[in-house]
Amino acid sequence: MSDESTNSSAGVVYDKKNPFPSCLKRRVLLNKEGSDKETLHLELCLAGSGLEYRPGDSLAVIPANSPQVVGQVLEAGEFDAGETVELKGGKTKPLGEALATDLNITGITKNVLKKYNAFAQSEKIETLLNPENKAALDDYLRGREVIDMLTDFPLPGLAASDFCGTLRKLLPRLYSIASSPKAHPGEVHLTVAVLRYHSHGRDREGVCSTYTADRVNEGGTMPVFLHYDKNFKLPEDGDTPIIMVGPGTGIAPFRAFVEERAATGAIGKSWLFFGDQHRATDYLYGDEWDRYLAEGRLSRIDLAFSRDQAEKVYVQHRMLEHGAELYTWLRNGAVFYVCGDASRMAKDVHEALISIAEKEGGKSREDAEAWVKQLKADKQYLRDVY
Ligand SMILES: Cc1cc2nc3c(=O)[nH]c(=O)nc-3n(C[C@H](O)[C@H](O)[C@H](O)COP(=O)(O)OP(=O)(O)OC[C@H]3O[C@@H](n4cnc5c(N)ncnc54)[C@H](O)[C@@H]3O)c2cc1C
Repeated sequence: MSDESTNSSAGVVYDKKNPFPSCLKRRVLLNKEGSDKETLHLELCLAGSGLEYRPGDSLAVIPANSPQVVGQVLEAGEFDAGETVELKGGKTKPLGEALATDLNITGITKNVLKKYNAFAQSEKIETLLNPENKAALDDYLRGREVIDMLTDFPLPGLAASDFCGTLRKLLPRLYSIASSPKAHPGEVHLTVAVLRYHSHGRDREGVCSTYTADRVNEGGTMPVFLHYDKNFKLPEDGDTPIIMVGPGTGIAPFRAFVEERAATGAIGKSWLFFGDQHRATDYLYGDEWDRYLAEGRLSRIDLAFSRDQAEKVYVQHRMLEHGAELYTWLRNGAVFYVCGDASRMAKDVHEALISIAEKEGGKSREDAEAWVKQLKADKQYLRDVY
């Protein structure tokens, strides 16, 4: 992947260094009432930016921290929001502003603890940092944030600039683009899972997903830039069949793919695997898929709603159920795409592909692995996982 840039109509280049203030035109909650999930569909404006994307690219969003979390950190460290601090690179600004827009004030790492302990000199932190105590350190870091570090190891009198020096930069977050520019000229759509959870006695939230959910109003702007992916693309030939596996927010690029193929009149067959918790509440873009199916723009859909029956069913189970057909599609040159959770889903889907090659192709485990590896090498098996 690479960052690139194009000129706007006014000759301005919008990129990572100079993000485009994109207007949030519309925000829709995709889950229905009663769902445990909070997945948003966002429609952002790119008109006049000169930014041009293709399905398969991502949009980077530069978030701001929650004012509540900024307030909690200021209070816990007994800091003055108005005190001027110097950040890496020599930039100076009031502490409150630096905590809101420049610094990562949520998740902590070993390195953050180590830098903090240069001032705190805590024996407890020292013990956690000992390589022999890796398990205890991982246990401490899991679900804890800067606020916990400040309250667990208070350090009254810590200079605000020194505190800032212990923190990491607040980084942009990437989101797979969920629209085709041919279907929505001047717009870019995203599918964002909003992260809210409870750990160690506190309510916590993901920085960027809640920024898009809570801190930018419709009509307001958020700084964005494009992140191009030259590999995760539709086949050049519109006749080539495609298989798309995208549970949860993994669905995003496939909405863009199907819209693009509909807009260009591509006639290649398309097969979508989607999954989430419940069909009644979590069938993301369900109306659109049903319509595309009825219109013949999507050839086939297989759904896996994990919590609609006693046994958990996931996309890889649906793949295995239809292994013979899936293997035939692949043998006929279908491009196989996977998007979404890297930690489990992508591994399970990969394993399912190997099993299908074993069963349907009569291959040994070793040959099946080699066959799937070759699909990857031939760019017939493409992943956008995170
Ligand atoms: C190429 C790419 C494409 C992506 N596409 C999408 C997309 O289309 N849609 C989408 O929603 N996301 C997508 N993501 C993920 C996205 O970039 C963000 O990582 C995601 O939105 C979370 O960011 P955040 O700032 O809200 O959370 P952060 O503030 O970054 O917090 C996330 C961290 O919170 C902690 N955490 C989360 N849950 C818990 C819990 N239950 N208990 C304890 N700790 C927890 C974990 O440490 C986790 O790493 C994509 C990522 C990549 C790299």
